[in-house]
Amino acid sequence: MPPTRIRALILKKINFRETSVIVHLLTDSIGKISGLMKGVRNPSKKIPPLAYQQGSCIECFVYLRQKPGLELVTRPEIIESFNLQQEDAVLWRKLLLTADKFIPASRFNSKPFFDLLFTTGCVIPQAKNQRPVEILVTERILFLLGFGPFLEKCLVCGSEKHLNFFSGKLGGVVCVKCQSGEPTAFRLPEKHIQVLKFFRKIPVNQISMVKYIPDGLFINLKKCLDEIVRYHITD
Ligand SMILES: [Zn+2]
Repeated sequence: MPPTRIRALILKKINFRETSVIVHLLTDSIGKISGLMKGVRNPSKKIPPLAYQQGSCIECFVYLRQKPGLELVTRPEIIESFNLQQEDAVLWRKLLLTADKFIPASRFNSKPFFDLLFTTGCVIPQAKNQRPVEILVTERILFLLGFGPFLEKCLVCGSEKHLNFFSGKLGGVVCVKCQSGEPTAFRLPEKHIQVLKFFRKIPVNQISMVKYIPDGLFINLKKCLDEIVRYHITD
């Protein structure tokens, strides 16, 4: 079969043997793949290191296998390296590893995930504060994967009132009446649920409008997302 040309973000890079690398690629079309780039670290090949660095967006060719496993990836060319500095670079790496952990290596339409992360790489330098970026991207990936958070009605009885509790196991809000039957549910101010709703809806390229998230709110939002991860994402 001829190789397929793809565009992808490098979520993770591991040096392999003397001159090769293994990369986890989030493609814009065919899902997430693990790829072997043979000999790219061999200086005689004159491949710029940015073409196989974590965080780079590249175009390359993949020899797609019938069965799951390492794909052979060739001719990587840099499309965008994002070139983030200091704290921005730390946040970017954190989000890439989050995406790598959450998104399974399989074939699916990965365009929404690719677009989300590509845009995130572009907007991080303009963001006034890192917290909104971290919350939005983490929440959006979970939602795109179908894990929630589901915030419109109680996940036990369907009520739309008194939604003051959150269960990571159920993936969203639980009402006051039902919380006693859900030992995993914890109390959450209703306005914090509104903030989760807000982050689920705004486009990532508008994230710079959120200037700041106070400590108490940030801790609660993180707790909601972390609890979903704890119950639904395996390491
Ligand atoms: Zn209920």
